Amino acid sequence: MSLLITNISELVTNAPRDAVSVASPGSFEAIAGAAIIVDAGLVAWTGLAAEAPGADEVVDAAGRAVLPGFVDSHAHLVFAGERGGEFAARMAGLPYSAGGIRSTVAATRAASDDVLRSNLARLAEEMLAQGTTTFECKSGYGLTVTDEARAVALAGEVTPEVTYLGAHVVPPEFSGRTAAYLDLVCGEMLAACAPSAKWVDVFCEDGAFGADEARAVLAAGEAAGLQPRIHANQLGPGPGVQVAVEAGAAAADHCTFLSDADVDTLAASGGTVATLLPGVEFSTRSPYPDARRLLGAGVTVAIATDCNPGSCFTSSMPLCVALAVRDMRMTTAEAVWAATAGGARALRRTDVGHLGVGARADLIMLDAPSHAYLAYRPGVPLIAAVWRSGERAAWPGLSGRGFLTVPV
Ligand SMILES: [Zn+2]
Repeated sequence: MSLLITNISELVTNAPRDAVSVASPGSFEAIAGAAIIVDAGLVAWTGLAAEAPGADEVVDAAGRAVLPGFVDSHAHLVFAGERGGEFAARMAGLPYSAGGIRSTVAATRAASDDVLRSNLARLAEEMLAQGTTTFECKSGYGLTVTDEARAVALAGEVTPEVTYLGAHVVPPEFSGRTAAYLDLVCGEMLAACAPSAKWVDVFCEDGAFGADEARAVLAAGEAAGLQPRIHANQLGPGPGVQVAVEAGAAAADHCTFLSDADVDTLAASGGTVATLLPGVEFSTRSPYPDARRLLGAGVTVAIATDCNPGSCFTSSMPLCVALAVRDMRMTTAEAVWAATAGGARALRRTDVGHLGVGARADLIMLDAPSHAYLAYRPGVPLIAAVWRSGERAAWPGLSGRGFLTVPV
């Protein structure tokens, strides 16, 4: 059954106009006065509303904007416990350090499968209601063979973009024995996790893992069939970005402290996306990454939430777009592109992040006339409706407010 959504004030497509089919996200593009037709879960047609062909069902957008669903390429959702007290203390002046992860590890190990599954489902629903139709999910709070294998298996119940992050931090029982822990991460733990994961990740940072350790983790992951991505240059300058590009990683995430050589390396990489996570800097009251420097150098930039219980407990891509615009000086178009097409590039996905003909029909309708409102009205729940693979998956903002569905 085909669906026509018409009277769209602005349809963001990230795809060239009038293309018969689109193989992957392009640059930011939008059509004013638009319509879109969805059929069999895919985008079948986009163009001017006045030129739209018919369809089995018609939705009147009544002057609202329609965008590709957000692609959140960095999230840590498999955990138990909470760290609200740590956040409050940090806001009162204590610094963030990687060691806080260990408190979540203890709570996660102690939790039942059902608790972890319930937390995960709740966060996934929260994301969907805020327009996120594709998300990545990491392990990294288990840090034993059994607990990491459980984490990737649970993540796989809610997303295909599962990342093995055994190399998140050295757990307390391996304190002072990093090499022994890495043997586990690259050996028995990897073997237990690889069948349920697509990606391998490592936290390359002072207090976590150094360059050679990160290289070893990514190489072992690749040998087990996983694709590399990395936490890099978050808390200070370091080798993470260089390691990422050497390894052909899909993304180097954080990129807050970069040298000129790091920026040049990313720009020349041809395939490593710089994923910026402005919710972290917001939630840790830290300096933001220099998005303009990266964009000016021609680096592909994505925005993601880094949703996790420690450094950034937001699941909201609209908030991250607003922060990128307000505090990282990205244009509204750059920020929306980075949160959709950029995220897709960071996950090496060609079927999402755009609304070209042939793309998966993951789309969001804003209760607003343009994408700019995501930054112009920060903190306001603007996601009026969400479709995933052409099916209405959530419509948090439109019940009882004249959302017109007209069978023809
Ligand atoms: Zn992270």
